Amino acid sequence: MDKKQYERPMIKPLNTGLMNKFGTKTEYTPKTHIDGNRVSDLLEEYGSPLFVLSERKIRENIRSAKRIFETRYPKVQFAWSYKTNYLNAVCNIFHQEGSWGEVVSMFEYEKAMKNGVPTDKILFNGPDKTDEDLIVAINNNSPIHIDHLDELYRLTELAKEMHKKPRVAIRVNMDTGIHPMWDRFGFNYENGQAWEAINKIMASETLDLIGLHCHIGTYMLMASAYGVAASKMADLALSIKKRYDKTITYIDMGGGFASKNTLKGAYQPGTDTVPEIHEYAEAITTALLNAGFENDDLPYLYLETGRALIDDAGFLLGSVISNKRLSDGRRATIMDFGVNILFTAFWYNHKISPAQEFSHHTEDTVMYGPLCMNIDVIRENVTMPPLNKGDNVVVHYVGAYNITQSMQFISLRPAVVLIDTKDTPHIIKNKETLEDVEVKEVKPEYLSTFEL
Ligand SMILES: *Cc1c(COP(=O)(O)O)cnc(C)c1O
Repeated sequence: MDKKQYERPMIKPLNTGLMNKFGTKTEYTPKTHIDGNRVSDLLEEYGSPLFVLSERKIRENIRSAKRIFETRYPKVQFAWSYKTNYLNAVCNIFHQEGSWGEVVSMFEYEKAMKNGVPTDKILFNGPDKTDEDLIVAINNNSPIHIDHLDELYRLTELAKEMHKKPRVAIRVNMDTGIHPMWDRFGFNYENGQAWEAINKIMASETLDLIGLHCHIGTYMLMASAYGVAASKMADLALSIKKRYDKTITYIDMGGGFASKNTLKGAYQPGTDTVPEIHEYAEAITTALLNAGFENDDLPYLYLETGRALIDDAGFLLGSVISNKRLSDGRRATIMDFGVNILFTAFWYNHKISPAQEFSHHTEDTVMYGPLCMNIDVIRENVTMPPLNKGDNVVVHYVGAYNITQSMQFISLRPAVVLIDTKDTPHIIKNKETLEDVEVKEVKPEYLSTFEL
């Protein structure tokens, strides 16, 4: 019998389907403080509900992600995905940590510019760029990531009219083994569209192809998909070098790393099952380093990761309005925050912790928001200790997308507080007022009076 080959032991995070060593009921510990500030004090000071962001956690996240990538690859540049959370205070923390800006509309572009990001460090993504937008981006020398052929042709025309050579990349979509495939943005790799677009750009001589961009999906649970994507991107870059002797400056791998939230229908909490950033980093950097670039030609690796850097730095604090029994006997608890400000409740089972000590008695509970509509459900089923009217809770991992996607529906949106690295809270967005909401309304004179 042959001697078996030695395999070194490995330590890996727990996989889907395995038990967390603490069991599944992670809601059971109270969360009384956030970065040294008592939850009930914050609610008293700034009103309930309230978004709270931890500056310490944000900085830890981006520093850790940078370190992880930079130890594996020599040329790394992060760009903050504005749509994930574009409160200016948040963006500026990322800019202070060295991140450029990544925007998907002129509104976001202007925000990044106003925050002081040099325009050649604003990556302009998205399918909706008007002529006016393109002209601004061309004049500002911003990297424009082309989404479709109409944009490519329009950009070529504008470049000729303006006697400029815009710096462009194309967005590439591809099969990474993950389905459904995200193929609505950019040019497909497998069917040759991406290569055709590259040939068109190179033939036109009016556009300067400086990079390749992809964003293969969001909340991606398989790090290996990024290895596949990075190989395909590298293959395009090497083909450009071979056919045109042109070295592109960067490969932008987009975002999509999963945050610690638990998807609805998942067996185990996201904290136990989602890949760690180093797993994504390993997949991407290994693929790039193995692709066959000459050392001088090694492209920059750009990353636009959003949710994985901010979700766990954000908390939604709220209070119980009331408890009731449903007709089937289940307990229902009505909170003072709804899905209009917690949009991600539609696809995540958010972890929710009571903010005060409690006894060991627990009960399955439906948690509703305060909106007068049936879909306003925060958790369909959560094991909670009995909460009384006025008790406080903390909803975890809400830093990504909830603030940018929030709706002013039925009620006014809450304030946002940032707790700095010395544990001092700062208001970074004031509570909405009736005046804010009505500021754009116009009431025609003839409708201004009535008799009842
Ligand atoms: C939304 C978006 C990101 C960020 O995605 P996350 O899933 O939050 O990491 C990055 N790049 C592009 C082009 C995007 O549209």
